Amino acid sequence: MFDYLKELNESQREAVLRTEGPALVIAGAGSGKTRVLTYRIANLLKQGARPSSILSLTFTNKAAREMKERISAVVGENTARYLWMGTFHSIFARILRYEHETLGYPSNFTIYDSADSKSLIKTIIKSLQLDDKSYRPNVVASRISMAKNNLITPSVYANSAEIRNVDKNMRMPAIATIYKEYARRCFLSGAMDFDDLLLKTNLLFRDHPDVLQKYQERFGYVMVDEYQDTNYSQYLIVKKLAAAHKNICVVGDDAQSIYSFRGARIENILNFKNDYPEHKVFKLEQNYRSTQTIVNAANSIIAQNKKQIPKNVFSEKEVGKPIKIISALTDNEEGFLVAQEIAQTQLRDHYKYEDYAILYRTNAQSRIFEESLRKRNIPYKIYGGLSFYQRKEIKDLLSYFRMTINPADNEALKRIINYPARGIGATTLTKLESAAINNETSIWNIVTVLPSVNYANLNKGTVAKILNFVDLIKRFHKLAEESDAFVTAKTIAEQTGILKELYNDKSPEGLSRHENIQELLNGIQEFSINAKETGEPEKLENYLEDVALLTDQDNEKDEDKNKVTLMTVHSAKGLEFKNVFVVGLEENLFPSQRQGESNTQEALEEERRLFYVALTRAEDNACFSFANQRYRWGNLDFCTPSRFLEELDERYLDSSGVEVLSRNSSRQHQSMSSAQKQVQQLTRRPAGSPIKTPDSQNIFNKKLVSLKETGRTQDTFVGDDASKIQSGMVVEHQRFGKGKVLQVEGVAPNIKATVYFHSGAQKQLLLKFAKLKII
Ligand code: ATP
Ligand code: MG
Repeated sequence: MFDYLKELNESQREAVLRTEGPALVIAGAGSGKTRVLTYRIANLLKQGARPSSILSLTFTNKAAREMKERISAVVGENTARYLWMGTFHSIFARILRYEHETLGYPSNFTIYDSADSKSLIKTIIKSLQLDDKSYRPNVVASRISMAKNNLITPSVYANSAEIRNVDKNMRMPAIATIYKEYARRCFLSGAMDFDDLLLKTNLLFRDHPDVLQKYQERFGYVMVDEYQDTNYSQYLIVKKLAAAHKNICVVGDDAQSIYSFRGARIENILNFKNDYPEHKVFKLEQNYRSTQTIVNAANSIIAQNKKQIPKNVFSEKEVGKPIKIISALTDNEEGFLVAQEIAQTQLRDHYKYEDYAILYRTNAQSRIFEESLRKRNIPYKIYGGLSFYQRKEIKDLLSYFRMTINPADNEALKRIINYPARGIGATTLTKLESAAINNETSIWNIVTVLPSVNYANLNKGTVAKILNFVDLIKRFHKLAEESDAFVTAKTIAEQTGILKELYNDKSPEGLSRHENIQELLNGIQEFSINAKETGEPEKLENYLEDVALLTDQDNEKDEDKNKVTLMTVHSAKGLEFKNVFVVGLEENLFPSQRQGESNTQEALEEERRLFYVALTRAEDNACFSFANQRYRWGNLDFCTPSRFLEELDERYLDSSGVEVLSRNSSRQHQSMSSAQKQVQQLTRRPAGSPIKTPDSQNIFNKKLVSLKETGRTQDTFVGDDASKIQSGMVVEHQRFGKGKVLQVEGVAPNIKATVYFHSGAQKQLLLKFAKLKII
């Protein structure tokens, strides 16, 4: 056991030792906020506080696990395991399961993921006979989510003239009706979506003071990490729980507030002082994570934001290397150069692969880096995107699990009642669903009273098929009560015929689906073994709960150790890596172009905070990259380097970046160096000079275009066929496949062809880059 107080500086120690009363730790990135929370909990336990009286809310399950491990090192595992520590969603899901009766929900309620919510919204839009082109499920889902996170229930929504006006202006006046129907159907299915976990907790505490009092008494201490990204719903829960004793400690950094698009309110941190007049503020100024160069560069960026609490952040680590900038001609080249930089750093500095992270603004950017790393045999792991658990075969099997636990789960039932095929068609399902909705119940309750009560007027043959399905689920239900998660899951995979069906499909896709199911079962086996070892519950329902509450950072497996990390900047929050690449630093990508954003200045400030988060993940080295051309939405776009590159104080940048690029490729060097230098000059603004205006951006664009026109030797990109392409020809493109040329226009070297691809996509392509092959 080590002396944790020695691991803290003076201000950190003060914050740790002030255990009673409200405390706000507000400090820049890497200054030890999470460490303070961790040791504060350890200290409380050392002082004799009961572990079950401490509630700590983290942003990811992974963060909670890591904090628990550290605390275990101080107070021992047996004490640490009784802490209430986890994400808002996982902690309050647990409380809602205890208190389910008060809310009229079953204790085994399902947690709908966003795909389930959208699918249900789609069904409702259809059943209300609304036009699905005006009512886009994504937009409707985010309106409902916003409402829930602001504690606006369906009836409040319907009665608010202000809200309904916004919907009318968005040409979706029926959202109030959809919201009401959505809430009703979730309830009939015994399901809560993610936002419900917070909303229902609030309603529970609001309407049942006795329940609230119970939890106020249970949790003598409340702590929240990343407080700047809490939404209103989370804020209120915390406030209510701490109201009696006011032993609340929140830590955060307003400069890292990056989730306002999801309803996070920066005001929560700003208002802490008013909410708790007797509070004490702790400011931490020393950054222990990053080199002086990285800290200073990050300070120079965030200083451009008008809305912020002034903070002094410094590092006493070494000065460190200047930040390298990689300018690539295309997005593919960006991938190549970043992989090359990793390979070269490896040869020189011998880091582990896990010491590298590539951070991008959007998930779509990952593909190119995956390819370039694969080509160099650099192992990588990727977070987010289409997650493993969203794959079709996985969701199918999980739906069986869900129905086994909560047979009222309509979304799960709809997925699997006819998978594997058992002759129950779409029409039957529609009838069943209408019967259920009309009778204010779940589909399960309609099918289990068959054949004596036939609400949906089904014929005998269909009834028999449905009853077979009912029997199957009932058997699984019994099995799940008696066996552990693994035995239940394996039996379900076998007895449904899913394993066999995928095994018999010998196509590459079939093989990989079969492997995925095996992988899922391996994971469940691991879960069961772990649960047995630690004495945690080991049933299928416990496994399902874990899966439902995963966040983007949580799907790490053991074999993922020592790999380069690829993730969005959003999911990198709170993490640190020795070497960080922030890629795709281009206008309209990072900062992103947010369509329909009402306040562009605020949106831009949030993008800048996101950039600050990205840079401050780096401990030793940071590297920025951008491409001059990039495929987006199937079109080749010319890009302008991000304004953030200009805003950085150039003292912290390695100005040789672009030059190095030219030297690496002699062919590029001959044709590009002078033009590239112009690029360099344009991207680097002397300190203190005004920020680029739209006009200068235009000039910049023109320079880039002229570079393209006169610059590169053609054979780098142009396939031999480029000059011969005419309309009517059938051509093949590396990425889009085969298609027919509809039109050719423009003069060399900027000839464009419009191609209609067999995939159904129509694209306009610049022939000098598109590498089309005549078939
Ligand atoms: P972020 O804002 O990114 O969440 P943070 O403020 O939570 O950062 P931590 O992650 O707690 O910062 O700490 C950053 C790094 O500095 C960690 O590696 C941590 O172990 C280390 N650190 C923090 N305080 C000290 C200290 N007093 N002495 C040595 N190392 C420290
Ligand atoms: Mg932290």
